[in-house]
Amino acid sequence: MTDDLRTLRTWAEAVPKVELHLHLEGAIPLPALWQLMQKYGGDPDVVVEADLRQRLTYKDFPDFIAVWIWKNGFIRSYDDFTFIAEAVARDLARQNIRYAEVFFSPTRFVAQGLQPQGLARAIRKGLDRVPETEVWLIADLVRDHGPEQAVLTLAKIQGVLDQGIVGIGIGGSEHLYPPEPFAPVYEAARGLGLRTSAHAGEAAGPASVRGAVAALEVDRIGHGIAARDDPGVMALLAERRTPIELCPLSNVATGSLARIEDHPVRQFRDAGLMLTVNTDDPGMFHNSMAEEFVVLHEVFGFSRDEIKTFILNGIEASWQAPDRKAVMMQAFQDDLAWRA
Ligand SMILES: [Zn+2]
Repeated sequence: MTDDLRTLRTWAEAVPKVELHLHLEGAIPLPALWQLMQKYGGDPDVVVEADLRQRLTYKDFPDFIAVWIWKNGFIRSYDDFTFIAEAVARDLARQNIRYAEVFFSPTRFVAQGLQPQGLARAIRKGLDRVPETEVWLIADLVRDHGPEQAVLTLAKIQGVLDQGIVGIGIGGSEHLYPPEPFAPVYEAARGLGLRTSAHAGEAAGPASVRGAVAALEVDRIGHGIAARDDPGVMALLAERRTPIELCPLSNVATGSLARIEDHPVRQFRDAGLMLTVNTDDPGMFHNSMAEEFVVLHEVFGFSRDEIKTFILNGIEASWQAPDRKAVMMQAFQDDLAWRA
């Protein structure tokens, strides 16, 4: 690594940051996941902790999903969720990520006897142990379960919004489940005062992004990279200034893009889109926020000032009240680490 990159990495690690697209179950630091594996008898193919990193590599997207399910098998109780929530929050604090809005999947663990309400409470208990970073929750209604199930999930979390749930999203198999049928549940969520995001243009084409903006009227788009294939969708995003939760290294790790050089971040920036930078599943991809910024500099030539803009965009695109955004914006601006 050149001196320039080493210095940039140190700077990116030190400056205050925001994360708007992070999945709790995909962000578990390896030592914490290792601890859970030991609790439940381990895995014959993962003998020492160092093997775990090797286990968390993927041939393609289906392989990634298979490993995701394998890993979830070691999260079995409400106490486990408290444990991973605390571990994830400590990892955010360690990286000087001061504020985060984090997805959790309320229904993915029902088969293990874990209900959405109990899950939200268990996660909040763990997050509250780490006052150094402020974490709010986004309920992923998971498109694979269909719009009717999404309505039921929304009803279940309605009773625990006081656990710091500020929004909803739809992750999962985007190429099989287009956004439009979810319009009624998005409308209902807005009625409850929740904000909205949708994974779109990650594993499907630009029509998915258009549907999320036009039919779901989302406040933010997750990924959105396929928008580049349709000038009309690009114009729509620019005109509405819809914030995009970019996750560049994730797109390569899951095979959405063959190479990081293929990422449209420069094209999006030149088209005037509102961009934020995020890590998606750092426990699965071995990336970090600082690493994302190093790559943006190294591969796309973004300067420190431009990286700072991506970070401050995260405050603007967050779902805090306007007065709280202003306070955080000032605190970030005043931070001495920018000048290092
Ligand atoms: Zn995601």
